[in-house]
This record gives sequence, structure tokens and C-alpha cells, in this order.
Amino acid sequence: MTADGTPPSASAPSKASAQSGPGAPRKRKPQPRQRHIPQRTCIACKQVRPKRELIRVVRTPAGHIELDPTSKKSGRGAYICARRSCWELALNKGKLDREFETTLTPEDRAALEAYYASLPPEQPTPATKPTARQTSKRMSSE
Ligand SMILES: [Zn+2]
Repeated sequence: MTADGTPPSASAPSKASAQSGPGAPRKRKPQPRQRHIPQRTCIACKQVRPKRELIRVVRTPAGHIELDPTSKKSGRGAYICARRSCWELALNKGKLDREFETTLTPEDRAALEAYYASLPPEQPTPATKPTARQTSKRMSSE
């Protein structure tokens, strides 16, 4: 008895899917380090600061001078530091009026002064440091 069953072995050559060509899309950022920080000038102290550190005040199309915390109001804007000294200049020295070439209405002024009053008192200039530490602590090791 000869069982001769030879199966037809069809050795199909597996198609090697050769990935040819650069598949990676080249996306080059020109200067990834350089982050654009918008800067504005405070109308009171004339210092240029990052926009985020300044408070925007806007003259609305209706002619009102309003705070614009979200920087989304339309109108001509001006920027003031979040500092009492700058707001004092802006409100009491007419910087705002001059900047917007208008006169603050009493109610606009009241709103701005309310903001001014909410600002924290400024630190006195750190000319004299109270922390004159001359502690000679001897750390006895072990
Ligand atoms: Zn300022």
C-alpha cells in the first residue's frame, strides 16, 4: 500500500511591501523658540510691558471710557499698568482724557475709580531691606 499523497505545495512568495520613499511629512517650524508676546505701552508711565500685565481701557463707539478686562470690546484702546500709581496718573492727571481726546463722564470715571480702588496698595520701594540677616548658624553636621 502506497499512499502517495503529495500535496501541491505552492510556495507563494510573500509580497514584501517595501515602503519606499520618505513617508514622514516634513514640517519645519521656522523658529519654534520664538514666542510672540504682544507688548503695549502704558499711557501713564510709558513703560512697555507684556500686554497681559496691562489693563485695557477702551473708548466705545458711543464715547464712553470703559474697562475692558477681556480685550474684546471694540473701540480705541489704551493700556495701563495694574498699578495704583499709573491709575492715579491716568485718572487724576488727565492721562486718560488726553489719550482718548475726550472728557471722562462722571459715571465712567466712577467705574474706573472703583477699579483703581480695588488695586492692591503698592509696595514701598525696597530701598531698605528689613531682612538684614547675619545669622551665623552653625550647622553642626551630625
Ligand atoms: Zn504704567
